[in-house]
Amino acid sequence: MSLDDAAEELASTLGVDKTEVKADLEKLVSYSVPLDEAKQSLRRKYGDSGAEGTGGAPSETDIVDITTDSGNVTVSARVLTVGKRSIRYEGDEQTIFEGELADETGRISYTAWNDFSLSPGDTITAGNAGVREWDGEPELNLGGSTTVTLEEDPLSVPYEVGGERDLIDLEPGDRGRTIEVRVLDVERRTIDGRDGETEILSGEFGDETTRLPFTDWDPHAEISEGASVRLEDVYVDEFRGVPSVNVTAFSTVEPAAAVDVSDSATEMSVREAVDSGGVYDVLLRGSVIEVRDGSGLIQRCPECGRVVQNDQCRTHGQVSPEDDLRVKAILDDGTDTVTVILDRELTAEIYGGPLDDALDHARDAMDRDVVAERIAEELAGREYRVRGALSVDEYGANLNAAEFEERSEDPEARAAAFLAEVDA
Ligand SMILES: [Zn+2]
Repeated sequence: MSLDDAAEELASTLGVDKTEVKADLEKLVSYSVPLDEAKQSLRRKYGDSGAEGTGGAPSETDIVDITTDSGNVTVSARVLTVGKRSIRYEGDEQTIFEGELADETGRISYTAWNDFSLSPGDTITAGNAGVREWDGEPELNLGGSTTVTLEEDPLSVPYEVGGERDLIDLEPGDRGRTIEVRVLDVERRTIDGRDGETEILSGEFGDETTRLPFTDWDPHAEISEGASVRLEDVYVDEFRGVPSVNVTAFSTVEPAAAVDVSDSATEMSVREAVDSGGVYDVLLRGSVIEVRDGSGLIQRCPECGRVVQNDQCRTHGQVSPEDDLRVKAILDDGTDTVTVILDRELTAEIYGGPLDDALDHARDAMDRDVVAERIAEELAGREYRVRGALSVDEYGANLNAAEFEERSEDPEARAAAFLAEVDA
């Protein structure tokens, strides 16, 4: 249902002005309140309490049978995970609980708008729970009209109870997860939060399976470079197409025994990596088939770092740009292609000199394109192994390279090349 349709329906059932209802709805939705919840809240505001919960509680439903078209349902289920989070609702901070419930037939995500004191492992019956659509899947809403009863006999379910996971198994949308990691990198930053300037930590976690970026919204002293920590109740969202771990004021952070960190990236074909929708630390091998425009000597806005042309930043207008080096190269491994982005340091290695050399080169030639031309000559047709973070958006797949090496530097490839020479 569109926001406009919802406003129309509410205005007619509540007998109030549609413009007013629509403005309220828009505000709630802009605070990330689901449309169904926003509608209920407006029914309360405009005093139509009778519109909800007519008739008795719905009959009990198996989780596998719940669809996005289900109305309210009653389910008996085991609580797999519980994550606590704070959102802004009608201008106030509100604490909500999120996680997964399961029965013998399946599992489903839930959001609890009230504190039902849920704990992982509990078996409950949730009466008159709402069903809403989230990302194409049904999700349960436990709210003011839901009754939650704790059952004594634990329901046996074919799923892991509790939130313990390895980093490689985390996916955007996960709530209430517990991880043990080493802090590989951490930086303190000041951002413009919803309550003005606020300090956060951001960096990188690693465990035996992989590495992932993180943000700590309520800086914990235990999260320091090199420390091994156990984090309870973290949630996962997506940042630039890869899973990102979020630590909040509700997370528990404790020192842990030293965590081993994998040093090898996950090796994939370009097609596999692109299909996965984003991988934080991946290893690809392929040939550079083209060096794209926007490579070589480029200029960036000193305010935001975006690439600018003719001294014009899209956000900051006329600026005095700063010179930089970059490569955008198309890598092809026969299964698919990806645009590999090399930063100033890796570009200088390919070019054969630092930024100052490139500027001298361009000045002597009275042409900035000579830098990109030399880079293209160097890269074209050669095979490389590239490690970095791959993200996918509507414009295609990009890999921000952390390592970029010619493939002939592989011992195996070198041996093969040597043998070929001997045979000739
Ligand atoms: Zn700018």
